[in-house]
Amino acid sequence: MARIVMKFGGTSMAGTERIRRVARIVQRQQAAGHEVAVVVSAMAGETDRLVNFCREASALYDPAEYDVVVASGEQVTSGLLAMHLQALGCKARSWLGWQLPIHTDDAHSKARIESIDSDALLASMAAGEVAVIPGFQGLTADNRITTLGRGGSDTSAVAVAAAIKADRCDIYTDVDGVYTTDPRIVAKAKKLKNVTYEEMLELASVGSKVLQTRSVSLAMKENVRVQVLSSFIDEDAPAADTLPGTMIVSDEELEGLDMERQLITGIAADKNDAKVILTAVPDRPGAVATIFGPLAEANINVDMIIQNVGRADTDTDVTFTVPQADLDRTKAVLEANRATIGYEKLSTDPKVSKISVVGVGMRSHAGVASTMFKALADRGINIQAISTSEIKVSVLIDSDETELAVRVLHTAYGLDAA
Ligand code: ADP
Ligand code: ASP
Ligand code: MG
Repeated sequence: MARIVMKFGGTSMAGTERIRRVARIVQRQQAAGHEVAVVVSAMAGETDRLVNFCREASALYDPAEYDVVVASGEQVTSGLLAMHLQALGCKARSWLGWQLPIHTDDAHSKARIESIDSDALLASMAAGEVAVIPGFQGLTADNRITTLGRGGSDTSAVAVAAAIKADRCDIYTDVDGVYTTDPRIVAKAKKLKNVTYEEMLELASVGSKVLQTRSVSLAMKENVRVQVLSSFIDEDAPAADTLPGTMIVSDEELEGLDMERQLITGIAADKNDAKVILTAVPDRPGAVATIFGPLAEANINVDMIIQNVGRADTDTDVTFTVPQADLDRTKAVLEANRATIGYEKLSTDPKVSKISVVGVGMRSHAGVASTMFKALADRGINIQAISTSEIKVSVLIDSDETELAVRVLHTAYGLDAA
């Protein structure tokens, strides 16, 4: 017998028929003798709909009330799944974030889980019940509802798995694993049997939204075994233990599993950044600190940065990227600090896309970046900025060229499925 956390995303929970199918998948795991806790998302599109209501209420809505509104989508699906399970003859009980509770900090709309009281869950599971937990939601120390940021149910699932010391956390979604790139963009994308925590963390943070970034860092820290697999399976499909999904593994495990790894594991695209250019910034020590200090204080995450040679010897242009959602605040901060920074002109461009190639193989092989630059140049795709880490190279390009760039790179690194 194993203790398993099963998580079902929005598409898997969208409507009665799909929830019924999820209930059957859960029932099968329980019937196989496992202890099961299930974490669910809201129905696909529901969270967007609720976010929209908040925006319509007020452009400057209270994030604490936003959480009350958007957390409701998961309340509905957790109750419905418990009902469907009961209809199949399974004992099942829902446990809302506040009932366990799942303790978080008070950063409304992007709260972090601090701890989970798992006593009630463990008692329920020991009594043969399936525990159904709405993802995405938690509770502050002063009993206000929080949510964990978009895509946060993945993090709820991993956190529950860590709290109840589950043998495995199975993330069921609308694709049957992690692919070399988004299979909805590149038909030739290949499914990966295994991905390391580090690679998955980099892929998620640069735009592969198949797992929320935080869920991967938590799984890595807490040593949770995570598997990504499809909920769109036939009634007679093999049990999850033998389903061909993607397993997230450690570096050491991977070495034993996969000797013939490709140099590049995956490619991701992110259209959510915007480019900011400051021209004629004084070229002297401390100048860039006057730009990035105030942005950091305003909690704005700057990603790629390049300092160009300016027109005169005495000044320079500085280009960087910020999340598009923070662009207006970025402009306001820079304008407020114009006198201290001393730039001539501020211009912005939201029509950019960050394309990243990720792979642990990069550590021991040279030439990954040059292959990328050449492949893009051959197709006339202009690179506007570059950044690298030990296992990743990212470039900034015009967002119109996103799909083309991903396809070209997928071929250039030999990742196309036969
Ligand atoms: P869920 O609602 O189940 O949480 P998401 O929409 O959050 O599902 O994540 C699944 C989606 O992630 C897929 O439909 C796919 O389009 C996208 N995706 C992006 N990159 C990848 C990748 N490398 N491998 C698999 N799916 C990816
Ligand atoms: N329902 C939430 C969202 O759409 C959380 C999740 O699905 O993971 O972001
Ligand atoms: Mg998701």
